[in-house]
Amino acid sequence: MLFRCRSQLLHVLSLSLPLLTRRLLLPCVHHLMKPLVVFVLGGPGAGKGTQCTRIVEEMDQTMAANAQKNKFLIDGFPRNQDNLQGWNKTMDGKADVSFVLFFDCNNEICIERCLERGKSSGRTDDNRESLEKRIQTYLESTKPIIDLYQEMGKVRKIDASKSVDEVFDEVVKIFDKEG
Ligand code: ADP
Ligand code: MG
Repeated sequence: MLFRCRSQLLHVLSLSLPLLTRRLLLPCVHHLMKPLVVFVLGGPGAGKGTQCTRIVEEMDQTMAANAQKNKFLIDGFPRNQDNLQGWNKTMDGKADVSFVLFFDCNNEICIERCLERGKSSGRTDDNRESLEKRIQTYLESTKPIIDLYQEMGKVRKIDASKSVDEVFDEVVKIFDKEG
């Protein structure tokens, strides 16, 4: 599985929907193929960005034969009802959601990872007070979206508290299985 449309990699990070849909659809017009999307969700610090980077880097090498499949990995979206409604309204009939890759990670581990990341990332929101609020927002707004996809049988859950390599092994297994 590859997340590439022509030479253009799409690794969308917390983009607003209009920008997201523009980015998603424009490169694919050439192919007239419906994009297939994997939503990547999990709490702040669960490792979404880390694993997305690895998927794009490593799968790009191994699965070049599938380059025209128009598959996209969308990091941190949809993170609430508003995102989901916007997606459904705008993308209805234009893209299919293949599955939700859910990085499940204990809150305290997430906070510790972000505090560590904050030392070098320059992200001003990587401090304990802000992180506790972000975890709260994740639990109140994003988790219900994951639960919704779970009811549709579309969630592939990974224990994201393990090491980066162990988590990636699980990611590979899922993509191998999903095709
Ligand atoms: P997210 O995008 O889900 O907020 P990141 O991928 O940015 O999370 O990871 C947050 C921090 O935790 C980063 O500093 C990253 O290097 C580190 N990290 C990511 N995955 C793991 C892991 N499995 N084990 C330990 N640290 C991790
Ligand atoms: Mg991230």
